[in-house]
Amino acid sequence: MTLRFSVLASGSTGNAFYIESEKEKLLVDAGLSGKQMDKLFQEVNVAPEELSGILVTHEHSDHIKGLGIVARKYNLPIYANEKTWKAMEGSIGKLSLDQKFIFNMEEVKTFGDIDVESFGVSHDAAEPMFYTFRNNGKKVALVTDLGYVSERIKKTIESADAYIFEANHDVGMLRMGHYPWSVKRRILGDSGHVSNEDCGLALTDVIDNNTKRIYLAHLSKDNNMKDLARMSVNQVLQERGITVDLHDTDPGVPTVMYEVG
Ligand SMILES: [Zn+2]
Ligand SMILES: [Zn+2]
Repeated sequence: MTLRFSVLASGSTGNAFYIESEKEKLLVDAGLSGKQMDKLFQEVNVAPEELSGILVTHEHSDHIKGLGIVARKYNLPIYANEKTWKAMEGSIGKLSLDQKFIFNMEEVKTFGDIDVESFGVSHDAAEPMFYTFRNNGKKVALVTDLGYVSERIKKTIESADAYIFEANHDVGMLRMGHYPWSVKRRILGDSGHVSNEDCGLALTDVIDNNTKRIYLAHLSKDNNMKDLARMSVNQVLQERGITVDLHDTDPGVPTVMYEVG
């Protein structure tokens, strides 16, 4: 076994991502209530007390809502950069000192047999970052809240076996929708979220023959639909002669555990 993962939940109502190897079990974000997190763990047969830790991407509530609760209940360490720690201090409740760890931006940390690399993204939080996971020559890249896909990000996530990549909105739906203009501008801007089309374009630059599977993540419930996201991303890829397996994620149903082969 190399890496296995499940997108436990994805979208503005809450995000959580689980990944494991032969020896290690890691959680990224815990953006749903403690009760909902327990239900998700159960659905994918994960014993949360066996987790080696929770990695945090940024302090928005859809990523940390259940963080303190899960960490306290199962006595788990939390890893985040200093600015994120500061920004989320008031919202995650009390933790003991031995649960607080620093994971800096652009750092590689080794958890058992998984090498985790963090990288910064432009998104309107204190110091948002996402991760790649490496084990036995396999690589998984997680990036679900970003405004602009820089060359630097592309370099870090290139040639992964699997991606969990943001396809937040359809630009047409967003423009025509009922959101106030200020909100639309935020989402469309460089520090908001990535559209279906931009997701496809970014993937075009980073995927290669190693890439087997892509999960489209953090879909807006008002400005996107699963079919539309898959179709739009697929179209961008096909126009460039790329065929790859696209999968949905869901706000409330975990994806079937996938082993990177
Ligand atoms: Zn966010
Ligand atoms: Zn988010």
